[in-house]
Amino acid sequence: MNSGATDGNKGVRDLQRRGLLLVLSSPSGAGKTTLSRALLDRDSNIELSVSVTTRPPRPGETDGKDYYFHSQSEFEAMREANELLEWAPVFDNHYGTPRAPVEALLEAGKDVLFDIDWQGAQQLSEKMSSDVVRVFVLPPSAQTLERRLRDRAQDTADVVARRMRAASDEISHWAEYDYVIVNEDVETSLKGLDAILSAERLKRERVLGLGKFVRNLQKDL
Ligand code: 5GP
Repeated sequence: MNSGATDGNKGVRDLQRRGLLLVLSSPSGAGKTTLSRALLDRDSNIELSVSVTTRPPRPGETDGKDYYFHSQSEFEAMREANELLEWAPVFDNHYGTPRAPVEALLEAGKDVLFDIDWQGAQQLSEKMSSDVVRVFVLPPSAQTLERRLRDRAQDTADVVARRMRAASDEISHWAEYDYVIVNEDVETSLKGLDAILSAERLKRERVLGLGKFVRNLQKDL
């Protein structure tokens, strides 16, 4: 028996992986943005889907990196032209996922990370259910959520109060997700996300060419 790689193992190289769509939702302030940035930094196989929004940029946000900041009429034009994979009103603004970059990434065999709300998660699940993996991020407590929103100091007190009320609505959708992470500690949460991604990437349906590989394997047994 030879346990090392030999030419006899070349069929392994024909196995390819179908990309998956990792959806992260949470109320604002639960730490989802920190988690998604860290995940993108440590995993080169996953790329962020940059959304379009009609809300103004916060200090430190860059157009094209954090969001594409568009006017309401530009947003509507994209929606009319069917250029958005999903879209939804959130607070007083509109948010949506540009379709073309997601299709290009999937075609290139990459996974795509979405930082979108429950409405977007539902729409993606309806359109591309077998590709979607949904993760809901919960704060460890209401106090922690409020503190994180205040510490962010980018929004007015009024906005913080509205976001606290909205958190309850967003959280009511937790059971529509495949996985739930209670984000008390970023490193622990990231380990959870790594585990989810590793397992989901190994799912039988996502490994292309497996049927042929097994048939060839059986021929030689
Ligand atoms: P924020 O204004 O704090 O960046 O985002 C507000 C909420 O909108 C967050 O829950 C975020 O996940 C959600 N969101 C951001 N982009 C999209 C998108 O493209 N589609 C949907 N449905 N929600 C989004």
